[in-house]
Amino acid sequence: MAGWRTIQYLSPRKIIKLQDRLLRNFIKNQIPYHPFYHNLFKKNKINFSGIKTTEDLKKLPFTAKEDIAPTAKEPKKSLDFVLQPNKQLISRYASLNKKIKIIFNKNSLFYEYKPCHIHFTTGRTANATPVLYTAYDLQRLEESGRRMVNMLNMSSKDIVINAFPYAPHLAFWQTFYAAKGANLLSLHTGGGKILGTEKIINSIEGMKATCLAGMPGYLYHLIRTAKEKKSDFSSLSLVVFGGERVALGLREKIKNDLASTGSKNARILSTYAFTEGKTAWLECKEESGYHLYPDFEFIEIVDKNGESVNEGEKGEIVCTSLDWRGSVFLRYKTGDMSKLYYGKCSHCSRTLPRIDAEIERSSEYREFALTKIKGSFVNLNALFSIMSHKDIDEWQIEIRKKNNDPYEIDELIVYVAPRKKANFDKLKNELKNKITAETEVAPQIIKVELKELLKRLGMETELKEKRIVDNRKKI
Ligand SMILES: [Zn+2]
Repeated sequence: MAGWRTIQYLSPRKIIKLQDRLLRNFIKNQIPYHPFYHNLFKKNKINFSGIKTTEDLKKLPFTAKEDIAPTAKEPKKSLDFVLQPNKQLISRYASLNKKIKIIFNKNSLFYEYKPCHIHFTTGRTANATPVLYTAYDLQRLEESGRRMVNMLNMSSKDIVINAFPYAPHLAFWQTFYAAKGANLLSLHTGGGKILGTEKIINSIEGMKATCLAGMPGYLYHLIRTAKEKKSDFSSLSLVVFGGERVALGLREKIKNDLASTGSKNARILSTYAFTEGKTAWLECKEESGYHLYPDFEFIEIVDKNGESVNEGEKGEIVCTSLDWRGSVFLRYKTGDMSKLYYGKCSHCSRTLPRIDAEIERSSEYREFALTKIKGSFVNLNALFSIMSHKDIDEWQIEIRKKNNDPYEIDELIVYVAPRKKANFDKLKNELKNKITAETEVAPQIIKVELKELLKRLGMETELKEKRIVDNRKKI
């Protein structure tokens, strides 16, 4: 099969051909061993050899989060998504594929299929779903990591600080395996909760780190703290975000703070990932879009009727595994909305399919994405860009019932720690107008000391800061 060097510059037509072939093989050689899809094919009377191209995927129903997430009744549902070749199935299905020499021997079963690593989804309301990796998959995590390092034009001299929270989540481990795969000197700090912001700042200075990776909200806090401490981050030339969306305006604020630490012209790039996709995708340049790995997965964008949309049209991101073991998914509906582009990237000339930089991610603040406040649906994700105002240091939003009475009306409270030189009254009015226009709810804006707000957010104590808190008691 073509290597990465070739794949990244294949023509869109050749990429389609490659994906058709990979999909055909994946369905025929792997899906018989997949409890959920084996049944699904049977139920829908589809042959394993009936899916020959990515076009044919349309014959398959979508897989929803609800199909995978464990419930009280079916706590082990997600294990039905793990490839599990057993003797009986192998003798039945592998023999049909002699031509392509699928050999299930003891070694390949152990390496390719035995789960050895787990990530969990981060949703707060739904039960966390485990996604299993085998040794084969971890090799792929290293490979995607090498690809990202290559896309970033990093060299073996680069030094990486991983500031993602230490957790069984993709962001931390993708960074770990990327650094391992590319053989880069790296320190995996576990973020504020594990090593603590002070020590991470000292490590960046002491090790003369060139690359810092972490969640945008936390890195903003870390870099702002470094600026206040007058730390020297002049070695830092690259900041890579992951784990959550980057609010408009945040990049600029971070750039300004970085410049004050001596890090001039640092590149600030973003990644996109979801747990079920098993790997992260990177933009080659700010806002260039996330470059996919067409040999690892097939991404399609569908409208609300489930029909594929054209290039550049907005819809839901749907993902199909092409070369993974462990937990694999076909036509998995992410709930995230974006656009897809093919052809040459105008920045790096790679021809990889790209997901638009603008993604409405339902996966992170899913339970808040559309929250009913005072009876009307409010998209709280929209508040992130309002709150990345240049005069705000930190912020938190609380939704609560008036007087804590469940029968009372909802209140939207916005806690703000303004920047030192900001005019708070002016800022307060501006925020009030913008938030009311966006949500049709008039917020209360309360000024809070930065130290107090950092505590509220749990910046040094939580895995992920508590940006939006819903304190309404359910009746
Ligand atoms: Zn590019």
